Amino acid sequence: MNEYMKETNEQLVHTYNPFPVVLEHGEGAYLYDTEGKKYLDFAAGYAVTSLGYGNEELNEALKEQIDKIYHTSNLYYNTACLQAATVLKRISGMDRIFFTNSGGEAVEGALKAARKYAYKKGTGRYEFIAMKESFHGRSFGAVSVTGHAAYQEPFQPLVPGVSFADYNDLNSVKALVTDKTCAIILEPLQGEGGINLATDEFMQGIRQICDEEGILMICDEVQCGMGRTGSMFCWQKYGIRPDIMTMAKAIGNGIPVGAFALTEEVAKYSLEPGDHGTTYGGNPLACTAVSKTVEIFERENIAAHAKEMGIYLTEKLLALKEKCDCIKEVKGTGLMQGIKIMKPLGEVTKTALEEGLLVIGAGKDVLRFVPPLIIEKNEIDEMIEILEKILL
Ligand SMILES: *Cc1c(COP(=O)(O)O)cnc(C)c1O
Repeated sequence: MNEYMKETNEQLVHTYNPFPVVLEHGEGAYLYDTEGKKYLDFAAGYAVTSLGYGNEELNEALKEQIDKIYHTSNLYYNTACLQAATVLKRISGMDRIFFTNSGGEAVEGALKAARKYAYKKGTGRYEFIAMKESFHGRSFGAVSVTGHAAYQEPFQPLVPGVSFADYNDLNSVKALVTDKTCAIILEPLQGEGGINLATDEFMQGIRQICDEEGILMICDEVQCGMGRTGSMFCWQKYGIRPDIMTMAKAIGNGIPVGAFALTEEVAKYSLEPGDHGTTYGGNPLACTAVSKTVEIFERENIAAHAKEMGIYLTEKLLALKEKCDCIKEVKGTGLMQGIKIMKPLGEVTKTALEEGLLVIGAGKDVLRFVPPLIIEKNEIDEMIEILEKILL
């Protein structure tokens, strides 16, 4: 660790454990540190920078917006907000958008929207069913539906009325349903929990339970959304539609922005003026990032590209699994995949860094691959080569 890193650690609350590298700039799927060393990026800042680094078109749009106006608050309308809401509605097929500044905040709002819906309908429902191994963020509401003891324990008591089902086990969900269940929240593809993809039966079964029992279905698409799994949003693969969904990470390619979206039916009986808000939400700069990112995504067919590259990545990972005994399983889909490995994750990610590859862990034993979606085959080959060197 150099002086700069030591000094940084002394200034910040010690909540992170960064890799010993100081990043300076980026180009496409590559990052460069202050020493000029080059890294192939398979982390994308936690599945955020889907268009990679140095996208001139996006950068120009942001600079232009900065020169016009970059904050208005929700006391007034702004054109960038309308434009971003319109494109998010179109790509999600949802009806109403609320802009947030992060994923956790989007989850927080989604939970409040669900509670308000029950309140206004007078159903007396307030409980949430969430999934074991889920991750929904760090605020009290979001952490309360995060099915992982380490995130919850020091902060008890949390929001009451939450129970946890086994992921991909419909019976375990059914067993938790009561006449007080307000909503079921899940990630269609669990990220932090170890890259677990929902089965068709599970997603469609939850939709059916919700319809039969008068429960709202909330899909958290903060990590798996925005083209990463090959469709714009992961739930769109299952032929269902949630009542509420959240998004963030990649929707602004790194400009802090998130959103939750409601169906018209939920919106009609849910949040009203005064119920919820955020000073920066719908910020013109963040909204410009969203509109421009989506525009580039659609024009360049980024989701289809992610699907194609995802198939190639799976092939390569399965071939590597044949060679490496320490790889037990290849998981996930699109450009959100992982390998279950029998080696300490911390050591593998550290060695990868030394070899010029940025990768991150997920759960206790999964190495996660969430590169910029603009990645090409030769970059996947390069990643596999480094991985092979480390794991063999
Ligand atoms: C990252 C993440 C969040 C939290 O997002 P923040 O922007 O860090 O608050 C919520 N849900 C999922 C599925 C995530 O991956």
